[in-house]
Amino acid sequence: MNYKISILSCLTILLIGSCSESLDADLIVHNALIYSVNDQMDTYEAMAIKDGRIIELGPEHQILNKYKSNEIRDVQKAVIYPGFIDAHSHFLGYGLTSSQLDLIGTTSFEDVLNRIDSYHSKNESTWIQGRGWDQNDWETSNFPHNDLLEDRFPNLSIALKRIDGHAILVSKSVLKAAGINKSTTINGGLIVLGEDGEPTGVLLDKAISLLDAIIPALGIEQKTAALLSAEKDCFAVGLTSVCDAGLEVDEVDLIQRLQQDGKLVMRVNAMYSAKPEILLNYTNLGIKTESLTAKTIKVYCDGALGSRGARLIDVYTDDTNSNGFFITPADSISKWAKMCNEAGFQLAVHCIGTDGNRVTLDEMSKVLGGTNDKRWRIEHAQVVHPGDRSKFGEYNILPSMQPTHATSDMYWAEKRLGSNRVSWAYSLKSLMSQNGMIPLGTDFPVEEISPLNTFYSAVFRSDLEGFPAGGFNMDEGLTREEALKGMTIWAAMSSFDEEIKGSLEVGKLADFVILDKDILSCEKQDILNTNIIATYLSGQTVYEK
Ligand SMILES: [Zn+2]
Repeated sequence: MNYKISILSCLTILLIGSCSESLDADLIVHNALIYSVNDQMDTYEAMAIKDGRIIELGPEHQILNKYKSNEIRDVQKAVIYPGFIDAHSHFLGYGLTSSQLDLIGTTSFEDVLNRIDSYHSKNESTWIQGRGWDQNDWETSNFPHNDLLEDRFPNLSIALKRIDGHAILVSKSVLKAAGINKSTTINGGLIVLGEDGEPTGVLLDKAISLLDAIIPALGIEQKTAALLSAEKDCFAVGLTSVCDAGLEVDEVDLIQRLQQDGKLVMRVNAMYSAKPEILLNYTNLGIKTESLTAKTIKVYCDGALGSRGARLIDVYTDDTNSNGFFITPADSISKWAKMCNEAGFQLAVHCIGTDGNRVTLDEMSKVLGGTNDKRWRIEHAQVVHPGDRSKFGEYNILPSMQPTHATSDMYWAEKRLGSNRVSWAYSLKSLMSQNGMIPLGTDFPVEEISPLNTFYSAVFRSDLEGFPAGGFNMDEGLTREEALKGMTIWAAMSSFDEEIKGSLEVGKLADFVILDKDILSCEKQDILNTNIIATYLSGQTVYEK
């Protein structure tokens, strides 16, 4: 036997063998334009997925030659991005709105009354809860009065939340049951009085909590149904991770149970609402799995601009008697900051007005001390005095912002703030530059849930009709690439999840979305007409058009 030849033939067999033997994958997606959203913004044509994770990305022939799978999807040149992440939303609250009276888009208070009428004709209950009115959409943009509720619906108990959740209108019977009258006082909120000195039924911020014992509590079944219906809607718009910016401890536990039972698969960054019982019990809290992060305390520093609850350094331009109020004063914010620092929690504080932002930045700074990687967050960071901007960078505080707030508020924000202060508001670019990143969200149900709206508003800063010409404070707009990062990798970073999601890279979760247009290059008017073809979570289809 010729020794040399036999070695050569063995080698040949080995080589041919290894080439023809493909590797197993659970899913191969190809013929695509895949934006990995990694540091280099690399693009690929195909990817292979196994056990819910990406095992390789590369050119078409490389992936198809190397892997075999029972599931091979040719997406016919469609575009793939990492699954969208909403960095600030209210997942449960959004789900619950579908079981309540919907008042979004009402054009007058008469419209509200008519919707109550038709809702009541289909629902037996004498208790009616609704959400979504915005007096800024009405011709007379004053707060409503419950006299009109009394005239039309004297036998109903009614509670109607404003779109932002920072104001509520309740009927007289509800005020009475809660023991609220003209002499009731509350810190961090307001009981709005009419010209006759009597309560009008409108309550702002902390005053809403006076109704806690009166408004019928929701059961686990209702909350479960709400979470599942919210999940379905979110998958349909390409979201694979959402936030819930303020939950009770038992609500976070409910989400975890539903995930463990395989009923809910949406990934959730759940923030605990800052309640006194949390201060007592925080050592027992905190969850970190691939599906659920609960390592954040959410505090409301001030109210909202629309209801003039946002705390400003100077008075409102359209109400010179008021500069808003603190829901949580500086000393309490300091307490929460110390607790979070000790327990290794993130602190996330809702700040709208110049004073709300300043006080929170200063209290956070005192505890943080300087450069750090705690990723504490200011939620909204809506009207920040230019002199305070650098504090975000110096103390690595993240501005968690919602681009659609700018394009929803732009019609009336100047009335509240005047022309100088409005130029400081919704300053995405200035605040992004502080840490070189910015997590983006919608604050749904305050805004619509679609991340495409976030993208459009961040980049073009205009409404669908192209108002205002040239965009609202265009200097503060983001590039398309920055906006995409804000709803993927930077949003993942804002909950310490960038190692597992936010970009399409080997080893990361196969959470991705297939779109029929490339939002990084298509025409402006096509962005909002872009279709979600499919949404995948851990390599499994969770939405298919
Ligand atoms: Zn919110």
